[in-house]
Amino acid sequence: MTAGPRTASGSGATVRAILERLPRGATTRFAPAPTGHLHLGHVANAIYVWGLARATGGRVVLRIEDHDRGRCRPDYETALLDDLDWLGLRPDLGTTAELRSGPSPYRQSDGAAAYAAALERLRDAGFAYACDCSRATFAASAAAEGRRWSGPGCPGGCRARRLDGGIGTGIRVALGEGEESVDDLLLGPLTGAPSRDGDLLVRDRHGDWTYAFAVVVDDARHGIDLVIRGQDLLEATPPQLRLGRLLGRPAPPAFLHHPLISKPGGAKLSKADGDTGVRDLRSAGWAPARVLGEAAAAVGLRPEPRPLDVDELAVLFDGPEPG
Ligand code: GLU
Repeated sequence: MTAGPRTASGSGATVRAILERLPRGATTRFAPAPTGHLHLGHVANAIYVWGLARATGGRVVLRIEDHDRGRCRPDYETALLDDLDWLGLRPDLGTTAELRSGPSPYRQSDGAAAYAAALERLRDAGFAYACDCSRATFAASAAAEGRRWSGPGCPGGCRARRLDGGIGTGIRVALGEGEESVDDLLLGPLTGAPSRDGDLLVRDRHGDWTYAFAVVVDDARHGIDLVIRGQDLLEATPPQLRLGRLLGRPAPPAFLHHPLISKPGGAKLSKADGDTGVRDLRSAGWAPARVLGEAAAAVGLRPEPRPLDVDELAVLFDGPEPG
């Protein structure tokens, strides 16, 4: 997405300024994918989510984003719930006790009926079509054309082919041309194309619902009106705005994309960085407040790591300037 005039970092003073623009009493969400263990990057996101919700009388939904059946594992989910409990991060909806007790509307692998119903609406409206393009089809098109496929459609022209679908075939939704804009609460006005790399894949060839589709259906059914997530997901926003509208969402949620925490040298942290895993810090004897304080400093919300109690998260956003 391209930025408008107002861009901002995650510094304490800047973040304090966004409070004035933040909706009061909003419902936001913490939405990890159980493809690994919780790491400091997740904790930084959780600090934004819980801190801003607590500072503005909002609610936090915990959503388990296990749409990718190949990569997600139930033991990672259990570990994630354990780590959240240990950190004292308590969701208002999708509580860890509820998620532990069985199927839940806050777990994507339990949401097939909601996704199928949304897809049906898109089919009825003529937006959905079966597609047998694979990564190799996109690569072959890029090689032949000398540039990557961009814009609506797909290299195989599948919408016009009216394929039957079924095993081995994905489903795309034609989101159309043009651009979508959002006034990000931290970054200011942003604009981008909803169909940057072809029409949106909503179900892949293995029958898995995609992140982009599940998240829009879920944000609507969970009443999410404030999305707080890292800036690595900026490009996901234009298709999500357009898809929300096609699915009949009257108004989009507000968005806040916060900075990511970095390793020395500027590389993005990932779950592969075992040393930043909450589990590992926990078994090395760290207290929850030390982990929260470390993540708050790493994301620029505090000048240096100092223990931070879970009940103090709101103070990061509406308290006095940090010393
Ligand atoms: N599940 C996504 C992730 O773990 C976050 C999705 C979102 O916030 O939209 O990166």
